Amino acid sequence: MSSFFLRTLREDPADAELPGHKLLVRAGYVRRAAPGVYTWLPLGLKVLRKVEAIVREEMEAIGGQELSFPALLPKEPYEATNRWTEYGDNLFRLTDRKGTQMLLGPTHEEMFCLAVKDMYTSYKDLPLTLFQIQNKYRDEARPRAGVLRGREFIMKDSYSFDIDEAGLQKAYDAHRDAYIKIFDRLGFEYVIVHADSGAMGGSASEEFLAVSPNGEDTFVRDASGYAANVEAVVVPQAPPVEVTAGPAHVEDTPDTPTIDTLVAALNANHPRTDGRAWTAADTLKNVIVMLAHPADEDHEEPWREPLAIGVPGDREVDPKRLEAQVAPAEVEGFEEADFAKHPTLAKGYIGPGVLGSEQASGIRYLLDPSIAEGSAWVTGADEHGQHVIDLVHGRDFTADGTIQAAEIREGDPSPQGEGTLTLARGVEMGHIFQLGTKYAEALGLKVLDENGKLVTVTMGSYGVGVTRAVGVIAEDNHDEQGLIWPRALAPFDVHVVAAGKSEEIFGAAEDLSAQLEAKGVSVLYDDRAGKVSPGVKFKDAEIIGVPTILVVGKGLAEGVVEIKDRRTGERREVPVAEAVEALIGEVRGQS
Ligand code: ATP
Ligand code: MG
Repeated sequence: MSSFFLRTLREDPADAELPGHKLLVRAGYVRRAAPGVYTWLPLGLKVLRKVEAIVREEMEAIGGQELSFPALLPKEPYEATNRWTEYGDNLFRLTDRKGTQMLLGPTHEEMFCLAVKDMYTSYKDLPLTLFQIQNKYRDEARPRAGVLRGREFIMKDSYSFDIDEAGLQKAYDAHRDAYIKIFDRLGFEYVIVHADSGAMGGSASEEFLAVSPNGEDTFVRDASGYAANVEAVVVPQAPPVEVTAGPAHVEDTPDTPTIDTLVAALNANHPRTDGRAWTAADTLKNVIVMLAHPADEDHEEPWREPLAIGVPGDREVDPKRLEAQVAPAEVEGFEEADFAKHPTLAKGYIGPGVLGSEQASGIRYLLDPSIAEGSAWVTGADEHGQHVIDLVHGRDFTADGTIQAAEIREGDPSPQGEGTLTLARGVEMGHIFQLGTKYAEALGLKVLDENGKLVTVTMGSYGVGVTRAVGVIAEDNHDEQGLIWPRALAPFDVHVVAAGKSEEIFGAAEDLSAQLEAKGVSVLYDDRAGKVSPGVKFKDAEIIGVPTILVVGKGLAEGVVEIKDRRTGERREVPVAEAVEALIGEVRGQS
């Protein structure tokens, strides 16, 4: 340690919120270079390499072949798939000295697809799985929690190439099994959830989420084992119900622009005839957003389109669910200026009377699937201060379709399993994805089949967040004093502390360290002399978090040293002569 490139910090970094992130910085594993961009110091790099090694082993075990693409990429392949524009602001674009536009790869479907197209021509060349462990670049809107969400980060990305659906399914299943092995070895709690397919376009897709209260992703599960990312929950269409409501009638409801004020006014001035009180769930709320679409086949320039979403008044539109539904379009607010352009919209009193592509506003109108045909609603009458009561879906109004955008709540019925849903939070650690032929078609990746006919190759893409994994493990494994690495990922096997001043102590500590290293046990030896007190050394050992600490101190005079387990806090004294054996037992015995 006297020459190791390491300085531990007493103070928390100002920009860190999560404890694991703070500790990675304070214990000298990483340093921030720019927002969302991190330097891996020697200690951190050791952990990172161990994670990489586990990922590499399991990828090779399913026959994956490693290669490495550049991060600096040409624009053309990404134009061919439209991701140059679809990726939006998250893509790092740059221009070289000749004026040629390039990008920093956010993920590499295009490049892998083209590489296979370059080299392979026949079904006999397939199946094929290629992978890399490489830097990715995304200009994330909100880089967060250090390495958990970086703008530069390491991903293992792999891609499978098959001649048919059955082959793709096999490759997908192999990846799924490999990911289970990887995440079991990394040792954090995770769930496998149905995922939204997002901007990638494609069918089957699952995510591996590390379960964590600080996670940015919300997932649901039920008692039967069904689990899904909240974006992927598909609420079934409510079946039609018999119409029981009388004719719709417009009522004056002054100063009721919100659901709360409306419900209060209804109960005060327009009580129900069946004796129960009006609730927010009786109202139909119409939310207008602006969709910002990228340029596409039909639009040379990016274009904007208003969208109206009808949800029961006791639910919000969930921005993440909505985004997933409309991707690659981005969701923006519907501003005063937009209202000015749509005079049929009465802000606060918008109703289905003007919504829909066939109606006065011309604004596309999509309903939450819980809104059954035949059900009656209180909703805006499209005049300031007026609502309409008993407006029946299917009888008095229709929409252009449905959308899965309303919030999902704890206790909602499980859509695909049994019982009700519970909600929890997680961090996406891995994503497996059946792409199908989308990329191969766009880039012309075809091979000859058995009959000499050209067929489009079908692809899968699979990612693991390698730097993110270090962040998640740090969040999961620490106490007040510092990090506590699981054995398999610790930067060193044993942290040897020379606690004292005498030459005997330093001599014995050095000798024990050498013996351990000779047996293949890696040692971080705190040989700092002079002003560095044993107290400082113990504090550093705690914050660094090597799972086994050997203290060579006062006991040496009686021929004993102390072995401390950083994970349990247990200490035991062993005779010097037995120390190496005991430590090897600790290191090899437990995993
Ligand atoms: P997220 O929803 O967290 O933004 P994503 O779905 O965009 O992730 P993918 O494109 O599926 O990410 O990438 C594969 C894996 O790479 C993710 O499962 C995650 O572990 C990791 N990853 C993605 N973005 C980042 C990032 N900004 N920083 C660190 N790791 C990331
Ligand atoms: Mg993903």
